Amino acid sequence: MTAAPTIGVFALQGDVREHLATLGSLGVRAVRVRRPEELAACHGLVLPGGESTTMAKLAVTFGLMEPLRARIAEGMPVLGTCAGMILLADRIEAGTRDQVSIGGLDVTVRRNAFGRQAESFEQDLDLAGLEDPVHAVFIRAPWVEQAGPAVEVLARVQTAPDASRDAVGRIVAVRQGSVLATSFHPEVGGDGRVHGLFVDAVRRA
Ligand code: GLN
Repeated sequence: MTAAPTIGVFALQGDVREHLATLGSLGVRAVRVRRPEELAACHGLVLPGGESTTMAKLAVTFGLMEPLRARIAEGMPVLGTCAGMILLADRIEAGTRDQVSIGGLDVTVRRNAFGRQAESFEQDLDLAGLEDPVHAVFIRAPWVEQAGPAVEVLARVQTAPDASRDAVGRIVAVRQGSVLATSFHPEVGGDGRVHGLFVDAVRRA
């Protein structure tokens, strides 16, 4: 691809602005996606953090659910962060009874996995493909409880956040083909390197 790719950010709910800013700093055209026509114009898509149950319901209401599934099945690169990771998961633990996902990522995620005391925490993580650690911000984050054979584990929790001893070693970043997902918020804090990995995948696709 020679011209700058267009990368959409799912914008029916969630922390859209930070992703648009980070993508913009990487020299791609970053646009909000609320309607199927807007998705059709994108070479890649970010599913931001937010509230996964609300985001899924709105995706159905606005006619985006089936187009999203179709584009992901066709290999459109997608980056899901936090709630976005939940939306991409084929299986959800601790979801609401009627919670649906877009799917495409052969993992089981646990919503709000880190527990009440550790609702939000930050730590530096080694992430496969990046030379230096990333500063990872977790906000009521999910973790990946189980990952299928095609899923590459990119990062795990390295030190226990308060009152969540169970957290060390949990998977918090994965890739399966052109689907990339993180439990944390790489759009927070001005480090564009995770988005950079994603933009590279879009340019290759
Ligand atoms: N707990 C939220 C959910 O289940 C995700 C939180 C986030 O995206 N920061 O959707």
